[in-house]
Amino acid sequence: MSTPAAERTNLLGLPRPALEAFVAQLGSRPFRARQLMNWIYKRGTAELAEMTDLARDFRTRLAAAAEVRAPAIVRVQHSADGTVKWLLRADGAQAFEMVFIPEPDRGTLCISSQVGCALDCSFCATAQQGFNRNLTTAEIVGQVWLAMRELPAERRVTNVVLMGMGEPLANFRNVVPALDILLDDFGCDLSRRRVTLSTSGLVPQIYRLAAVSNVALAVSLHAPDDALRNELVPINRKHPIAELLPACWHYLDEQNGRSVTFEYVMLDAVNDSPAQARALARLLKGHPAKVNLIPFNPFPGTRYTRSPAAVIQRFRDELLQRGVLATVRRTRGEDIDAACGQLAGRVIDRTTVRLGNKIIGVAVQP
Ligand code: SAH
Repeated sequence: MSTPAAERTNLLGLPRPALEAFVAQLGSRPFRARQLMNWIYKRGTAELAEMTDLARDFRTRLAAAAEVRAPAIVRVQHSADGTVKWLLRADGAQAFEMVFIPEPDRGTLCISSQVGCALDCSFCATAQQGFNRNLTTAEIVGQVWLAMRELPAERRVTNVVLMGMGEPLANFRNVVPALDILLDDFGCDLSRRRVTLSTSGLVPQIYRLAAVSNVALAVSLHAPDDALRNELVPINRKHPIAELLPACWHYLDEQNGRSVTFEYVMLDAVNDSPAQARALARLLKGHPAKVNLIPFNPFPGTRYTRSPAAVIQRFRDELLQRGVLATVRRTRGEDIDAACGQLAGRVIDRTTVRLGNKIIGVAVQP
């Protein structure tokens, strides 16, 4: 008798050791896991019946207990600049987004880790949606698997960034196994320098990540001092800059990483003055840090506007003059609301605990 679809194990959620155990449980040899992964990730096959080098009776048992299921596509949008945005189904009416950004020398896939986000950064569209739930490992890996299948052959995914909806480190339990699959030679086979996890600064989880993963780290800093950062990135009240930066340097030490990227959204007359650039340079100078300045992307209802281009250049020059590497992120996919901070999906908020305008509780997974 076959297991109902909802109870079948989604193989996209199993890193190699777990897949080996699963295969063994079905009475086959663990090395079959590698054969399976080869079908799933190298050939992009979801059909277990097509995996003809696996013994027929094993395939039958496998098909009864397992499946390969990526999130369903609700809508695809193409930007004039080649950027593609997918709206993917979570459950019922809920959906989350994924974006592919083609560049001459690479293809970057920006994936989500949660349906919504609980962290409430004041300049982010996802925050306005509230938080619904964590994505599963299979849903996180399934985004990459799906994009690799959906994109035309000349559009390859060479880089993956966890910069879509959600705070990846608040979904530590599901994100870490997903990273393992993305890096595994038998999985998505991406180099660790081409997978970037971006966090708003969950300090304890940065230390935990340092012990178990070695992907590139990006941190959403956005302000050079606690007073302003408390306002823009409220998690700063719990984990201030003086705790955040040592966690970043620790991560690099443990992982033999080259540098941490600090994201800094450019908000007109809020955080973009030359004095603020100098304060930022003082924080980062002498450390293995790069600053990525992100021109603010507006969304309905926001109180912020984007810093003028000349102000952004000046800010960058102040950093460069002080020996801090800085680049300006080119805005992509704006015409389809696919740019940084514009991903909204469809989220039914259910866990952010608010009192008036103040968040008094946040669903962060231990
Ligand atoms: N929660 C994680 C992952 C999101 S990454 C994090 O905070 O890092 C998305 C990046 O885009 C973050 O650096 C985020 O701060 C930035 N961002 C959010 N809203 C934005 C907006 N409206 N314009 C430009 N960048 C934005």
